[in-house]
Amino acid sequence: MPDSLAIRLLDWFDQHGRHDLPWQQNPTPYRVWISEIMLQQTQVTTVIPYYQRFMDSFPDVNTLADATQDQVLAHWSGLGYYARARNLHKAAQIIQQDYDLQFPESQEELEALPGIGRSTAGAIRTLAHKQYAVILDGNVKRVLCRHDAVEGWPGKTAVAKALWLVAEDYTPQQRVDDYTQAIMDLGATLCTRSKPRCGDCPLQTTCVANAQGNPTAYPEKKPAKKKPQREETILLMINEQQQWLMQRRPEKGIWGGLWSFPVLEPDSELEEYLGKKGLKAQSTKELPLLMHQFSHFGLTIKPLQVNVSTTMVKEPQDTSSQWVELPDGLPGGVPAPISKIIDQLNPVTTT
Ligand code: SF4
Repeated sequence: MPDSLAIRLLDWFDQHGRHDLPWQQNPTPYRVWISEIMLQQTQVTTVIPYYQRFMDSFPDVNTLADATQDQVLAHWSGLGYYARARNLHKAAQIIQQDYDLQFPESQEELEALPGIGRSTAGAIRTLAHKQYAVILDGNVKRVLCRHDAVEGWPGKTAVAKALWLVAEDYTPQQRVDDYTQAIMDLGATLCTRSKPRCGDCPLQTTCVANAQGNPTAYPEKKPAKKKPQREETILLMINEQQQWLMQRRPEKGIWGGLWSFPVLEPDSELEEYLGKKGLKAQSTKELPLLMHQFSHFGLTIKPLQVNVSTTMVKEPQDTSSQWVELPDGLPGGVPAPISKIIDQLNPVTTT
C-alpha cells in the first residue's frame, strides 16, 4: 500500500503537478528555505510576488545576513507572522558566522536554526539537498489525515506523532524530492481545505475519508475557545512640519520590530503623555476603529489623530522613534492594519 500510494501520486505529479513555481527553478537550499518559510500559513499566489521581491533584494544568505532587520521586515510587510522574518534574518547571520555561508545539511543542524522545524528541515533536505527526508506541513497533514482518517486535532502531540509515522510510512526512497513536491501540490490544488476534488484525486480508491463521504471532517479543528479581546489607542501625531511620529514596536510582542504609531496606555492621559515629549495638542480627531484578528486574541485599534505643536526643545530622539513624512518616508516595515491607516491619513485642520 505505501508504495502504491507514492506511485500513483508521482504519476499524477508528472502530469498535473506544479513545475514552474519560482522556487522550483534553481532550487538551492537558500531559495527553498525562503519559500518554505513564506508558505507557512500563506497561499502560493500571495507568496509569489513577495518571494520575487525578497530574492531581488536578498539573492543569497550573505546579503540577507548583512541586511538590517528594518530592511528585512519591510519586505515582509503585509505577509503577517513577522517572527518568521526575524528568524530568517537571525538564521542567516548564524549561517554566515558559524557555517562560513555553507547551508547546513543535517536534520539536527537545520532544526537548530531559528524558525526551522522538523518539516521545514525535511523540505530543505529533500528539495534542495536531494536527501531522503520526511515532511509534514499543513497541506500534507490534511491529505494524510483524510487518506488514513486520522482522528483528533493535529496540534495535539499524540495526533502529530501518529501523523509523522503515517508520513514516514508513505515516503518512498526513490524520487523523494518529487514525492515531497507532489504531496504538497495535491494538498494545495485538489485536497483543499473546504472543497476537496476527490473525483480527480489519484488517491481516491484508498482514501478512507472519501469512502466515508466526509473528507472535510478531517483534520479535526482546534477545540474552540473564545478569543480574548483587547483595545489599543494609537496616537497619530502630526507636527507643524507635517511629519508624523512613528515608533518601532518592541522586539517581543505583536508586530515585534515593525514600525507603528505610539500607543497611549490605558491609564495615561493624552495631555500628560504629550507634555513629557515637549508637545501640546492643537486639535484631535477620532478615526474609524479597526479590528484585527491575531491567532490568539482580537485587537480593536482606536486611532486618534492629534495635531501637535512643540512646547520645548526636544531631547535627541532615540532610534526607536522618528518624525517622518507619510507615506513616502516610512523608516521600515509596517503591519498591514497600520498600512491601511496610513493610506487614509489627512492632516487635521487646526481650528
Ligand atoms: S480522495 Fe479526496 S479527501 Fe482523499 S486525498 Fe484525495 S482529495 Fe483528499
